[in-house]
Amino acid sequence: MGPGPSDIAPRVLAALASPTVGHLDPYFLKVMDETQQMLRQVFCTKNPLTLAVSGTGSAGMEACVVNLIEPGDRMIVCVNGVFGGRMADVARRAGADVTVLERPYGEIFSSEEIAAAVKKVQPKVLGIVNAETSTGAYQPVEEIAKIVHDAGGLILVDCVTSLGGMPLEVDGWQLDAVYSGTQKCLACPPGLAPVTFSPRAVEAIDKRKTKVASWYLDMTMVKSYWGQDRAYHHTAPINMNYALHEALRAVLEEGLEARFARHLKNHKALKAGLQALGMEYAVAEGQQLPMLNAVKIPAGCDDAKVRGQLLNQFGIEIGGGLGSMKGKVWRIGLMGETSTERNVLLCLAALERCLSDQGIKVTGGAGVAAANEAYRAAAKA
Ligand SMILES: *Cc1c(COP(=O)(O)O)cnc(C)c1O
Repeated sequence: MGPGPSDIAPRVLAALASPTVGHLDPYFLKVMDETQQMLRQVFCTKNPLTLAVSGTGSAGMEACVVNLIEPGDRMIVCVNGVFGGRMADVARRAGADVTVLERPYGEIFSSEEIAAAVKKVQPKVLGIVNAETSTGAYQPVEEIAKIVHDAGGLILVDCVTSLGGMPLEVDGWQLDAVYSGTQKCLACPPGLAPVTFSPRAVEAIDKRKTKVASWYLDMTMVKSYWGQDRAYHHTAPINMNYALHEALRAVLEEGLEARFARHLKNHKALKAGLQALGMEYAVAEGQQLPMLNAVKIPAGCDDAKVRGQLLNQFGIEIGGGLGSMKGKVWRIGLMGETSTERNVLLCLAALERCLSDQGIKVTGGAGVAAANEAYRAAAKA
């Protein structure tokens, strides 16, 4: 129940253990084709350039940035957590002329402030994080995409944590370059980064005057392996692709709507329980992520001791705070396979024990009772 990697279904682990074939084996090419099709369904896009980059979510971030940016290009990066900060670092390394827009951890950006910055900077690319896993805040991006397009720019969005756990409409919201990771709500081990590029983004890549700064992540070459040419670029991590293929099958069997509803239901029950234990969310109501619950550590509570007790005594991992939230919040993940009633109830019961061991006053059973009440209400609705 940390901020990733999340739990993996046995069927995905079994797929991972299937025999390794060659990277141009007809069977593997079929796996790649089906994976691309399923990724388009999950991303809600028709973008032809949709594939799984070899590498974790951060490789997806780097792939999007280095393919769109040429040295000297202006880029705005919105930073309200660790991952926005990382994107700014990646963009500077790629030679972008970076303007950082900042918000304190846990807050989100308004369309107005983005519009003002876009007007001033006239960026080629604006980068923003849809679901900031380091803070638990949800950033709507549809309106921002319009603002960026009206100024002739491209929008690059980090959907590592949102993909597969909450609504994301790449075509509907007109997002240009989007990356994700396998290890969050797709419930697959870390190791691949699904990405998708809009026709507008592909045009920008085609118009480059300089070569993409990264050989490994150069989409102009990677796409000929995933496309009709099947030109050898690098040896795809075969078994990781089996795992992603199986994980996507599981996502689509459950159905996107049902999957989002499950994430939301478990988030609401966990929230009811945590609040009944006297805990407060670090992010305002209405801006909270269903798959990442950042709650303030009660005064007088030893952060490391509680997390250690949860892990050692109850087998539950939760995350600590990052950056300015270090030592101030816990991050409880409900991602993919981890988002279950069983985990919510177990976590609340165990946390109650840890809090009372810390001398914090809690009403016995209040957390579990409130979560059960939320589940009963959800069943009636
Ligand atoms: C996890 C995460 C990343 C980085 O992914 P890795 O798989 O750790 O490389 C980037 N952005 C967000 C929002 C994340 O949650």
